[in-house]
Amino acid sequence: MKKLIVITGASSGIGAAIAKSFADLGHPTLLLARRLEPMLELNLPNSLAESVDVTDLAAVETAIRKAEATYGPTDLLVNCAGVMLLGHAATQSFAEWQTMLDVNIKGVLTGTHVVLGDMVARQGGTIINISSIAGRKTFDQHGVYCGSKFAVHAITEAMRKEVSASNVRLITIAPGVVETPLLSHTTDTEIVSDYEAWKETIEAGLEPQTVADCVTFAYNQPQSVCIREIVLAKTKQAD
Ligand code: NDP
Repeated sequence: MKKLIVITGASSGIGAAIAKSFADLGHPTLLLARRLEPMLELNLPNSLAESVDVTDLAAVETAIRKAEATYGPTDLLVNCAGVMLLGHAATQSFAEWQTMLDVNIKGVLTGTHVVLGDMVARQGGTIINISSIAGRKTFDQHGVYCGSKFAVHAITEAMRKEVSASNVRLITIAPGVVETPLLSHTTDTEIVSDYEAWKETIEAGLEPQTVADCVTFAYNQPQSVCIREIVLAKTKQAD
């Protein structure tokens, strides 16, 4: 039996593609997101799915420990759950800012907190955080989203240095626009239609599978090799 892979945000988009890719490679998987049904519909072999809010440390820990009791220690945690609520800085609701900070930052820290100590203790393991190009540079109407993703880059790199001597890898994967339902949660309809129009100029975003292929590529390097960061986007995406 191959090693356990835990994937957050596995009910949709990039996370679902990552889950399928690791199942195809023969890994047992734990799928985490709030909506159980889409994860069950993936119908993956050797897989557990739990309805969990990634901001809830106790719920994330319970789910991971349950999977580890069946499949052994987590060898890879992919923190993919995220929300992008674009909005104008002067008018966006505070609640939307808070949701992005909670899910995109705290939601990365919960799973990390559960698995990192064990990885250091057994001198092996990998955490891959799905950030964004918006974690490397800023875009209009993306202020708090960019802030949350800059934080993912910073936390990943700082923790990577700290645990590198323990043979544990932390990796950031930062895609440009990807074809998923991510944009659909933005409540400002004008921003959504402008974004959709811009996407047409680059002939659509990346396929989620392209990001999943980067995740499996980085993970499948020998444990002695850490691909620290991958930034990818459609060739026609200029910014
Ligand atoms: P989707 O909207 O398709 O997927 C988002 C996933 O996050 C869903 O599985 C959703 O599950 C989960 N999620 C959201 N909130 C929570 C929560 N509180 N607790 C648990 N799970 C949650 O978008 P993508 O696949 O595109 O997004 C995946 C990641 O990729 C995000 O971090 C995003 O920022 C990043 N990204 C996406 C890009 C794009 O253009 N699409 C570009 C760059 C980065 P559920 O609703 O069932 O809880």
